[in-house]
Amino acid sequence: MTDTTLGFDTLQVHAGTEPDPATGARQVPIYQTTAYVFKDADHAARLFNLQEVGYIYSRLTNPTVGALANRITALEGGAGGICCSSGHAAQIMALFPLMGPGRNLIASTRLYGGTVTQFSQTIKRFGWSARFVDFDDPDAVRAAIDDDTRAIFGEAIANPGGYIMDVRAIADIADAAGLPLIIDNTSATPYLCRPIEHGATLVVHSTTKFLTGNGTVTGGAVVDSGRFDWSASDKFPSLSAPEPAYHGLKFHEALGPMAFTFHSIAVGLRDLGMTMNPQAAHYTLMGIETLSLRMKKHVENAEKVAKWLEADPRIDFVTYAGLDSSPYKARVAQVCPNGAGALFTFAVKGGYEACVKLVDSLKLFSHVANLGDTRSLIIHSASTTHRQLTPEQQEAAGAGPNVVRVSIGIEDADDLIADLDQALARATA
Ligand SMILES: *Cc1c(COP(=O)(O)O)cnc(C)c1O
Repeated sequence: MTDTTLGFDTLQVHAGTEPDPATGARQVPIYQTTAYVFKDADHAARLFNLQEVGYIYSRLTNPTVGALANRITALEGGAGGICCSSGHAAQIMALFPLMGPGRNLIASTRLYGGTVTQFSQTIKRFGWSARFVDFDDPDAVRAAIDDDTRAIFGEAIANPGGYIMDVRAIADIADAAGLPLIIDNTSATPYLCRPIEHGATLVVHSTTKFLTGNGTVTGGAVVDSGRFDWSASDKFPSLSAPEPAYHGLKFHEALGPMAFTFHSIAVGLRDLGMTMNPQAAHYTLMGIETLSLRMKKHVENAEKVAKWLEADPRIDFVTYAGLDSSPYKARVAQVCPNGAGALFTFAVKGGYEACVKLVDSLKLFSHVANLGDTRSLIIHSASTTHRQLTPEQQEAAGAGPNVVRVSIGIEDADDLIADLDQALARATA
């Protein structure tokens, strides 16, 4: 267990790990093993009965992956957590114990594009559905909830548009309806925002992004606050009633605040198999050690670049929430006091053609479909990720033909500005 009175910078280096008991290795070893030897038949039986916590098979748990899960849990201030193979896997893992055929979730209209597709199309195959609502309209969120609603899902800082969610306002609505609030905290990271402190029940991450930090491995995490009363209604039978997929165990009664986490391992990872591998966990553990240092620089650079762009006559608008001109500026202090992150969009005078030329003329910025790398990244959504959408849908998604999205890295801000300056000169010549 981790001492949660320690500061963030200490936890990001130490939480969830101690010197390897077998060898004294100071760094977390990569436990590259599929299975673990049982001490005897009785030990094996106790593990399978969840009477004793230990390792059986790496689809369920692995010490390297477990160290990462515990570290992310400590940084988010949760009770327990699991890691999985990607951010999208984490979203399914978070919803799986809550949902069932005919059930719905309420989702923010401002979500990562891949999440919109997962929720609007793919989950329908499970008999689940999503209702997309503007989270700045609390009455609309309340009105969308019905007897079949099982979760509310939003993003603390939503890309691409620099939107900051009023997490507390939506958490209050979720509480009143007896529903868990799930927050995707990928863009913010726990250094900028700790959703559980604002009333969230579950936090999901794509560890692919800022947590790993250098664009090497995909991964995801789900952290449970341990505060939701799964037994307060009959809405969450996987957690409150005898679970048929685990010989009738009542997870909430037996495991209290660890019910969600144990269910995610014993049923979710066991049967869905969206497991993180120990190599990926190793890279992400390395990345997290410097999370706060990197996020400070990401934010400092994003503020400088956004201010420079906003003052440039070749630019129509910049959506960074850290700018005084942003409608979300006031929420930054409340929701993400360490800064508004490093993702934003800007509109280039000259539209589609100018954006394409800009992207092709940049030398330091990489044109990729990723974010949260140490390197600065750029993408022109209308010609790539949002190509399939109608012009109206592109506008609504904040991805109009004249807009590019950047993920600002940790290089020297002056070099990034010089690169943008020369590329804008070519793009608007
Ligand atoms: C990338 C991302 C995801 C999906 O994560 P993967 O690791 O790519 O599966 C989900 N939410 C947000 C905010 C993201 O940036």
